[in-house]
Amino acid sequence: MIKSDNKIIIAIDGYSSSGKSTLAKEIAHLLNYKYIDSGAMYRAITLFALRNNLINPKDHSIDEEKLRNSLNAIHINFKYNSQKNSQDTYLNDDNIEDEIREMTVSNNVSFISKIGFVRHEMVRLQQEMGKEKGIVMDGRDIGTVVFPDAELKIFMNAKAEVRAERRYLELKEKNIDVSYEEILENVRKRDHIDETRDESPLKKAHDSVELDNSNMDRKEQLEHIIGLVKERIKEA
Ligand code: C5P
Repeated sequence: MIKSDNKIIIAIDGYSSSGKSTLAKEIAHLLNYKYIDSGAMYRAITLFALRNNLINPKDHSIDEEKLRNSLNAIHINFKYNSQKNSQDTYLNDDNIEDEIREMTVSNNVSFISKIGFVRHEMVRLQQEMGKEKGIVMDGRDIGTVVFPDAELKIFMNAKAEVRAERRYLELKEKNIDVSYEEILENVRKRDHIDETRDESPLKKAHDSVELDNSNMDRKEQLEHIIGLVKERIKEA
């Protein structure tokens, strides 16, 4: 445990399945900070849109008008699950943690997350969560848009094949039936949409530390980042 009264904000951005959430959770645990998975928020809205037929999963067309009018009815929360020692995502009090990881959501989420009004609302909620600092948040635009003044920004990447393999093993462990090829295609497609959208595209903040973990294990990554965290806390 790293103890300090100086609380900072740690923003972790990067490509799909680049290991952001594993690293973010470990750092949050060590610092006793709040951890927020911003991707889960976009996945939750996507699930809401799918359940209410606001997005067509075949051609990804979206009823933006209805979605905009539904934003008030979408309440996203995170609750600690002691059995798993991690957080579960809730949509209007319904535990959706497993459902939002399924391929139907993965295949549609980048179409929902590129809509301006969806992003504005998510960014507003995320900034609210970080008001008191002491937070680790991962996503695509955390260091660039949500917390441009974060004391530590990390940008993670790894080869698409390595990321797809990790995701494949994760989903297999959860007994979700999907092929490696399907995941690789989804990872590449999401990266492309996330990088090329007009609204806050995925990009490395100029002041972030880049971490390519294609050939790094979890322990090596964590040690590297912990050194930086200690430095930034001291400076804060
Ligand atoms: O992090 P994860 O892969 O679960 O994110 C799912 C999707 O949510 C991303 O592919 C991206 O389209 C969107 N996202 C985003 N901005 C964030 C976090 C996620 O656009 N800050």
